[in-house]
Amino acid sequence: MAFTTRTLLLAAALPLVLAGGHEPTAADYAAWAENWDMCKYTALTWTAIVGVLLIYRSTTELLRYIRRIANLNHGTSADMKQKYFTVPHEKWAMLKTHFIVAPLFRKRHNREFKLSAAMNVGTLPGRVQTFFLVGYCVMNAVTCFMHIDFSGGKARWLSDACSRTGRNNPLIWLLGISFDSYNMIHRWIGRIVVLEAVLHGAFWMAGEVHEEGDMGWTIIAQYMASPGIIMTGTIGVCAFIAILLQSPSIIRHAFYETFLGIHIVLVIVSIVVVWMHLEGFPHQKRLLLPTILVWFIERAWRMVTLVRRNLSNGVTKAEVEALPGDAVRVTLRIANPWKFRPGQHVYMYMPSVGLWTSHPFTLAWSQEDGISNEKALPVARQDLLSTKPTSMSLIIRRRTGFTETMWQKAERSPGGKFMTTAFVEGPYGSQSFQSYGTVMLFAAGVGITHQVPHVRDLVAAYANGTCATRKVTLVWIIQSPEHLEWIRPWMTQILSMDKRRDILRILLFVTRPRSTKEIHSPSSSVQMFPGKPDVGALIDKEQEKQVGAMAISCCGTGSLSDDCRRAMRERCQETEIDFFEEAFSW
Ligand SMILES: Cc1cc2nc3c(=O)[nH]c(=O)nc-3n(C[C@H](O)[C@H](O)[C@H](O)COP(=O)(O)OP(=O)(O)OC[C@H]3O[C@@H](n4cnc5c(N)ncnc54)[C@H](O)[C@@H]3O)c2cc1C
Repeated sequence: MAFTTRTLLLAAALPLVLAGGHEPTAADYAAWAENWDMCKYTALTWTAIVGVLLIYRSTTELLRYIRRIANLNHGTSADMKQKYFTVPHEKWAMLKTHFIVAPLFRKRHNREFKLSAAMNVGTLPGRVQTFFLVGYCVMNAVTCFMHIDFSGGKARWLSDACSRTGRNNPLIWLLGISFDSYNMIHRWIGRIVVLEAVLHGAFWMAGEVHEEGDMGWTIIAQYMASPGIIMTGTIGVCAFIAILLQSPSIIRHAFYETFLGIHIVLVIVSIVVVWMHLEGFPHQKRLLLPTILVWFIERAWRMVTLVRRNLSNGVTKAEVEALPGDAVRVTLRIANPWKFRPGQHVYMYMPSVGLWTSHPFTLAWSQEDGISNEKALPVARQDLLSTKPTSMSLIIRRRTGFTETMWQKAERSPGGKFMTTAFVEGPYGSQSFQSYGTVMLFAAGVGITHQVPHVRDLVAAYANGTCATRKVTLVWIIQSPEHLEWIRPWMTQILSMDKRRDILRILLFVTRPRSTKEIHSPSSSVQMFPGKPDVGALIDKEQEKQVGAMAISCCGTGSLSDDCRRAMRERCQETEIDFFEEAFSW
């Protein structure tokens, strides 16, 4: 068929395009109905996944709530009652050991594969993540090729496969999953979208070549160069491939800001051209529309919260102070603050340092105005946590981009600090360990920002009798004692909190002390050691006297997380233990 005739048909009658240029037959209509069914199956599968996640999350939240309120009373007999919660459910513990918390193979999950100190090429997914990824790939393969009639001739199956791989996957809503798992899912869904877009184009081309013989490639080139469905499709596939090529871990980590800017532009280009490509496909457009709406609503919501938090009651100001050990403390006086909770992180913009870029940081501390950082606080610490703070602080480790510029600026400023305007977006996430009788908090380096709020929260709740927690052990691994300075004022406050000695033990491990004189233990509840900890031995010690269920939380290097996970998996069938992992990476 001549190119000009085909172009006219493309413009005039879409069913003909779908049918490969001929009048649609009963087989074509049946194939399109089947294709639409596949979209519905995919949507149903996602709904089921979201449903299961919702049920899982609400059940665990409910169980934790019940465990917390069942164990509020203090005293030896009350603590004995927590014995019930130390005993693990045999099958659930097996599932945690071998599936939920398990790495793919023996131990490695969060420790990154590196080509050099600066070149990170990613991490290995855990078993749950792998199960999800394989399941998702299989589901896509099945819905792309199931019920395609391969005996109906090459033209028929190429046409069917072409329309199947051109499906749009329904939106995902995932709940109660970690930041890095969410990012992993995002990346893999993206890869599959690119693969299916390429297959969609390849099947169409193969169909043309099959029908037109030697002229096929010339016709394909002519279609691609002429405005219309094929040109928009070609631009879309090129944009998808460009996204794939610019997104390997090594590039993302080395040039994050550049990667992000190009990524967003390419995604906008792809969505616009896919929308144009779907001209005349109202059903498919109806699937794409929610994606576009969700994107706009999310952007608009972020803008509104940014303005509300930072400009609605004055302007947010930040004091940036250089600290020993390549870090800065940022104290944010947020114009319209929120209720501080452990585990929250924000995205911070600081135009005088990074223009329009934003970076995620964990909130390490909150403070009401008029309360000095250095002095002891009043007895009722819970008051401090429940009222609105006026300043919130971050500890930021110097890296090579935005954080380096910020550190340099503070270092060169008089007194090692400067004031500037900042904007914070959030807060995102929050976490509570108040339903656990025993809590072990592991941190390496700047990972302490995640654990300090938990320590304060648990000690305050213990003093007020509002948690099940009876024992908290903080294990912090630092390279040199000067890193203690990062949180010194906050530790001073924590150490003077009511009943702190009854519940809190702090173990500091200094991996590169300059001399043995640097290693000294101020008291029996705050101890310092040279070298790295034996994570398993520390957990064994707590397990021997475990009260209630135990939470192990880890925020630090990938290898520390992997050590903690392994130690937890080896012990969680003896007593009830849950593992929580925070990674400052993605
Ligand atoms: C949820 C979360 C909480 C975090 N909390 C803290 C904290 O409390 N203290 C702290 O010191 N660090 C924290 N980080 C890490 C911190 O965001 C990065 O170190 C910081 O963004 C690096 O900026 P840079 O331009 O100096 O990075 P570079 O030196 O250019 O790169 C260093 C690393 O940071 C990554 N990175 C760079 N820019 C971003 C960005 N905009 N978003 C995400 N990652 C980026 C890079 O991919 C690279 O792996 C957190 C990260 C996450 C995801």
